[in-house]
Amino acid sequence: MNEKLTKAAAALKARGFDAAVFSTAQEACDFILGDIPEGKTVAIGGSMTVKQMGLEKSLRENGHEVLWHWEVEPAKRGALLHQAMNAPVYMCSANALTEDGLIVQIDGNGNRVAAMCYGPQLVYVVIGRNKLVEGGLQQAVRRIKSVACPQNARRQGLDTPCARTGSCDVSACGHSMCHMTVSFDLAPNGKRTQVVLIDEELGY
Ligand code: SF4
Repeated sequence: MNEKLTKAAAALKARGFDAAVFSTAQEACDFILGDIPEGKTVAIGGSMTVKQMGLEKSLRENGHEVLWHWEVEPAKRGALLHQAMNAPVYMCSANALTEDGLIVQIDGNGNRVAAMCYGPQLVYVVIGRNKLVEGGLQQAVRRIKSVACPQNARRQGLDTPCARTGSCDVSACGHSMCHMTVSFDLAPNGKRTQVVLIDEELGY
């Protein structure tokens, strides 16, 4: 088993999260499908990890209704995002995770961090090993801005400095995706947050 992921899982547990490590995406998928209460609607945040794992398809095959704004036309996204906040189950990935268990997210709209903080009562955060960083918040933010943001901006066709050069330049960024940085010192109160760590490269 990946020692760094095992260490991160222990640190996440110390912060009040549920955490488990899996060798493969398939094992993680099997765990998630077995863990979600039968028939519950699952909302998904923007996540290449979830897409790569085909979780939305597997959830539907297992009888869950899935709410995902990535699947609907722009005019319907706002309403769906509000619906997602009231779903019983939420699923997303993280932009970065430190070895001492700090989950770090940078959002543009805030729907994902809002749902993680206060909304669905059961949240799954699915994280591939490539999101793990050595160091603390500063190193996590550096990873997000130099690895995740350039790829996310290119995927969305945004003309940002990070998409053009691979480096962040806030002063020249007219279409910023980075409106808020949220780190979770402790698991949010009043809900269960299950972190699923996978020893594969997933998402970005
Ligand atoms: S602020 Fe702009 S340039 Fe910097 S990482 Fe975010 S989207 Fe990219």
